[in-house]
Amino acid sequence: MHVGRRNGGVILGGGFGALSKRFGSAAGSMLEAELVTADGKLLLANEYQNADLFWALRGGGGGTFGVVTRLTLRTHESPKTIGGLNGTISASSDEAFRKLLARFIRFYPENLNNQNWGETVKLTSANELKVSLTFLDLSEEEARQVWKPLQDWVTARPDDYSGELSFMVLPFRDLWNLDYWQKNNPSVVQVDNREGQPRGQFWWATNQKAVSEYIYNYKSRWLPAHLFAEPEKLADTLFAASRHWQFSLYVNKGLAGAPRGALERDRKTSINPAVFEASAWILMAASEAHAFPGVPGQGPDHEKGKAIAKKIDAGMKILRQATPGAGTYSNEADYHEPDWQRAFWGTNYPRLKRIKQKYDPGNMFRTHHSVGSET
Ligand SMILES: Cc1cc2nc3c(=O)[nH]c(=O)nc-3n(C[C@H](O)[C@H](O)[C@H](O)COP(=O)(O)OP(=O)(O)OC[C@H]3O[C@@H](n4cnc5c(N)ncnc54)[C@H](O)[C@@H]3O)c2cc1C
Repeated sequence: MHVGRRNGGVILGGGFGALSKRFGSAAGSMLEAELVTADGKLLLANEYQNADLFWALRGGGGGTFGVVTRLTLRTHESPKTIGGLNGTISASSDEAFRKLLARFIRFYPENLNNQNWGETVKLTSANELKVSLTFLDLSEEEARQVWKPLQDWVTARPDDYSGELSFMVLPFRDLWNLDYWQKNNPSVVQVDNREGQPRGQFWWATNQKAVSEYIYNYKSRWLPAHLFAEPEKLADTLFAASRHWQFSLYVNKGLAGAPRGALERDRKTSINPAVFEASAWILMAASEAHAFPGVPGQGPDHEKGKAIAKKIDAGMKILRQATPGAGTYSNEADYHEPDWQRAFWGTNYPRLKRIKQKYDPGNMFRTHHSVGSET
């Protein structure tokens, strides 16, 4: 499959979607890139030509090594079905929530940290576990069976917990089929109603805010697999962080638990190798919809934003201290990430920088916190 013009930054920086736990990152599926380098040359980069540049382009970030004019990507066999699991488990006290977290942490490695699952579980300051997961090639009954031990544990404690989980399954080929959603579950989609847009264009209604979003704070971190071996300790950490602000665990953005094929492809990329040690990726963030800085009466609420940003700083401090050296995904990270070279690229950074110097010695392509931007 050839890709041009749009979304270069996603793939060049890594590219994680709901299916990444099965197929790996988009960069891992890159077969070839065509690019114009700083000296004006048109180069091909693949496993056999300019192999050093090819490695760097798979995860080293957009706006860094040249202008990519064409990408060739490997395709993968579609899953047969995709399911959605949504719902909230609410705990009636802080102590019940902490116990729920410990139970969830015991449940996670065996049941969710594998190629079938993707997307998020959110922990809130109101003692809720908000589940918004996808699952591949499992029937509704099979998915329910996966969750049964945790659900049984919750239902056996009605004084401590309440809430429902709902499961649905659809043919994978209908995932991006507007007709399917309008017929079966219209509230899931937001149709692009702008004049002149092609028919069938839509986005998920839950992503509406992303159309126009002013970010107050945005911090992320990989969550290493080994921490799940001490459930009580990890529960204490996650609970303490959640007192400050809510955050989500993304199953699909940590590759510990991914199948061999995906791991083999991604180990050939320049993405921070810390991703292979991570069972999940944490995002703690907050934003305001439809706020336009500089437009009178339409600007963001700075006071509110600053207050929330402080809470996120405090929550993330706890998570960072519990995850030394864990790093994070360069495409979805704090603008002010300290020690960003190590956080975004880990042990790959020195090699990336040498390749940057070879192909762009004058540092013509430079973006904020991109490889070589410190010089
Ligand atoms: C709402 C939202 C949701 C997101 N969700 C996800 C997610 O689920 N998974 C994920 O992996 N990421 C996600 N991201 C992050 C996304 O990967 C980055 O924002 C990425 O940088 C976007 O790349 P772009 O090319 O679309 O955007 P741009 O902002 O246009 O480009 C980003 C950088 O790449 C460079 N670049 C773009 N095209 C090329 C090219 N052809 N050649 C060389 N350099 C190029 C640009 O110069 C720029 O430096 C999300 C971002 C947002 C805003």
